[in-house]
Amino acid sequence: MKPDPSKSCKQPAISQPAQKGFSLVELIIAISILVTLTGSIAPMITRYIEGARAAVCYSNRDAMRSEILYAYAAGEYASLEEACKEIPAKPTYAGKVCPAGGKITCTVKTDGSYASLTIACDHAGHEPLSRSVEP
Ligand SMILES: [Zn+2]
Repeated sequence: MKPDPSKSCKQPAISQPAQKGFSLVELIIAISILVTLTGSIAPMITRYIEGARAAVCYSNRDAMRSEILYAYAAGEYASLEEACKEIPAKPTYAGKVCPAGGKITCTVKTDGSYASLTIACDHAGHEPLSRSVEP
């Protein structure tokens, strides 16, 4: 008797379970893409952070300059030089002006009828803040 092909005892193929996780090649490709992206983005992020620090430093020095000029105009200090020396040493400002850790210096240069108030930070890239004042 010939076997009936439609009634074969061949079992249906057992389906493979779905592949879980990633293969080694896929992981290597994904990691290399991440390393490339990180390498190209990191300098840009560093520049943004440094720019933000410079802006905060400038803004804090501008607030300090306003306070110096206001205190001098209000007569709280005998001279602009004294205000320039005392106010940056206040606990409000001491060590808190530059988020990058730059050292703040306040100088007054008198030239005839005008004085130039300059508040500088020694951190690289932090521009000095200068203003002419009538003493
Ligand atoms: Zn600074």
